[in-house]
Amino acid sequence: MINSHLVERAANLIHDADALIIAVGAGMSVDSGLPDFRGSNGLWTTLLPNGMRERDIQSLTQGDCFARDPVAAWRFYGRALQVCSQTVPHEGYGILLRWAERATHGAFVYTSNVDGHFHAAGFDEERVVECHGSINFMQCTKPCCPSIWAAGSMADALGDINRLTSENLPRCSYCGGVARPNFLLFSDPAWLASRTSKQQMNFQQWQKEARKAVVIEIGAGLALPSIRMFSESLGIPLIRINPEDAGIGDLEGVAFRGSALAMLRCIDREMVN
Ligand SMILES: [Zn+2]
Repeated sequence: MINSHLVERAANLIHDADALIIAVGAGMSVDSGLPDFRGSNGLWTTLLPNGMRERDIQSLTQGDCFARDPVAAWRFYGRALQVCSQTVPHEGYGILLRWAERATHGAFVYTSNVDGHFHAAGFDEERVVECHGSINFMQCTKPCCPSIWAAGSMADALGDINRLTSENLPRCSYCGGVARPNFLLFSDPAWLASRTSKQQMNFQQWQKEARKAVVIEIGAGLALPSIRMFSESLGIPLIRINPEDAGIGDLEGVAFRGSALAMLRCIDREMVN
């Protein structure tokens, strides 16, 4: 049972804020039906390409996978790119967008998700930090140069993922080597961080103008704690939504144990009352 007093408190914090910082982990995407692409989430078993088993995923989370086994890496992440582009962001994004529009200084998203769903849901691209990069942008696997380019219509162009061979993989147009998504894998020194660094600078500029900000942290677990560390480091009231580790200790704010979409709906009903 959700404590209505806490819901009211969260709604008041959002209502009174001039700026919203929306800090988001994998739990947000799960409600759209997407797994955490960096983990070995069981949801992948329904999405695995032909001939690939769940235990193969472990080696495909390592930074050298596109150099070591480009066909397997592309079958896996090409499928992920297709699933991301075909999946509609859930209603919770629209709720956050409405809250963002009513705050005088707007909102900034800080997410470890690589699915690009905040862009897809209509958030301003200049107001998002993708701290682990994005599946919708590509780079050279080596990399031969600092270029990062949009995947564009690549999801469709890849066609049947099981027909990918070393002859028809996406290529770097500068050196002809294999291309890869510009997102951060584990042990991944080849990841080009420049796009994310620019987003971080945008955030710091925006943050200077915020007078009474609140951070809404959604679906950020303890397994990869970077988002939780980020939101706790801000020193502003925190609204934490998480199905498991939902405490906030001595921090100012309020915590809800629940799924992203269910809790956003719950607070939104209080907002409109
Ligand atoms: Zn290259």
